[in-house]
Amino acid sequence: MLATPITPLIDEKNLRHVRDLILQSSNILITTHVSPDGDALGSSLGLYHHLLKRGKKVRVMVPNSFPYFLKWMKGSEDVLIFEYNPEAGKHIIDEVDLIFCLDYNIPKRIGKMATHVQNAHAKRILIDHHPYPEKACEVVISHPEKSSTSELIFRLIDQLGEYESMNHATAECIYCGMMTDTGGFTYNSNDPEIFEIISLLLKKKIDKDAIYSNVYNNYSKDRFLLLGFTLLHRMKIYDELHSALIYLSKEDQNQFKYNKGDTEGFVNYPLSIKDIVFSTFIREDEDYIKISFRSQGNFACNEFASEFFNGGGHRNASGGEYYGTMKEVLEIFENGLQQYAQKLQSSKR
Ligand code: 5GP
Ligand code: MN
Repeated sequence: MLATPITPLIDEKNLRHVRDLILQSSNILITTHVSPDGDALGSSLGLYHHLLKRGKKVRVMVPNSFPYFLKWMKGSEDVLIFEYNPEAGKHIIDEVDLIFCLDYNIPKRIGKMATHVQNAHAKRILIDHHPYPEKACEVVISHPEKSSTSELIFRLIDQLGEYESMNHATAECIYCGMMTDTGGFTYNSNDPEIFEIISLLLKKKIDKDAIYSNVYNNYSKDRFLLLGFTLLHRMKIYDELHSALIYLSKEDQNQFKYNKGDTEGFVNYPLSIKDIVFSTFIREDEDYIKISFRSQGNFACNEFASEFFNGGGHRNASGGEYYGTMKEVLEIFENGLQQYAQKLQSSKR
C-alpha cells in the first residue's frame, strides 16, 4: 500500500530490480550529464541524500563543474568533479558496486567519464526523461513524457514505499529539479500529478519560495548587464520564420566577466516575443561552440539539433555542439532555418 495518492508509473519488474540492486550494494555512485543543470543535480543529490540515510556509502560524480546558483543545494560541496581529478574519478568508478545514470540517455552525455562508466564492473541503473535511451544498463527507467528526472526520483522513492522516510534535503533537491526543468512550472507542467507531488514535498517542510530565489534571484550584476547587451546587440529576429537567434563570442562574454552559468536561461527570452516559436542561442566556449534550442508548441527543436549539430534533447528544449568557427555555425544555422521554413511557418504555439 502506497502512502501517497500518486499513480504508480515505474513498472513492477524494474522496481523490484532497483530494490534488489540497492539492497545488494554498499558502495554506490550517482552520475549525471555534462554542465549539470538543476534537474541533473537535483535528481542526483535528491537520491544521494535518500541513499545516505539508508546507510549506504554514496557519492555523486559529474563530468565538469556546475553554476554558482546551484551551490546552495545540500551535498553540492561533496560532489566530485571528474575533470578536476580524473585519476581519483576512475578509481571510484572502478570500486563501486552500483552506478546510477541520471538525467542522460547516452554515454556521450557524460563526456570523458563515459568509457570508464561503460567499462565498470558495477551494475548500472539508468533513470531519465530524454528520448532514445541506451539499453545497455541493467535497469532502464525511461519516461520522456515526464518533465524531469527529479520527478522520476520522487516516484521511485514513493513506489519503493519510502515517502514517509524521505528527508528534507531530498525533498528540496527534487523540488529544485522539477522547478528548473519546467522553467518554474511555466512549460511541460500541465500534469496534475506534478502539483500533487509538490504538495507532498511541501509536507516535508521545504521552502519553495526560497528555492526559487536561490536559483533565479541570485545572479551577479555582470550577468544582468550581459543579458541586456545580448538582447540589444546580439539578437536577430527572423519574423517570417517565427524564429530568433542570440549569439555571443568569447570576447562578448569576457567583456562582462563571464562565469559558468551566467547565460543560463538566455535562450528562453526570445520566446516571450509574440509569434516566435523557435529560439536559438549560440555561445563560444573554450574549445567548442555550444548551441541551445528552445521551441514552443509542435515545432520539434530536437530534430533541428540532431540534423544540423549532432545534438538532441526534448521536443521543446534541445542542444548540440560544434567544433569550428562562429561564422560556420551561423551559416549552418541559417541554412537550416531555410530548410525548415515550411515547418516553422506552420508551427502552432
Ligand atoms: P541546454 O540548452 O539547457 O544546455 O540543454 C537543453 C537540453 O538539450 C538538455 O536537457 C539536453 O537534453 C539537450 N542537450 C543539450 N546539449 C546537447 C548535446 O550536445 N547533445 C544532446 N544529445 N543533447 C543535448
Ligand atoms: Mn532533465
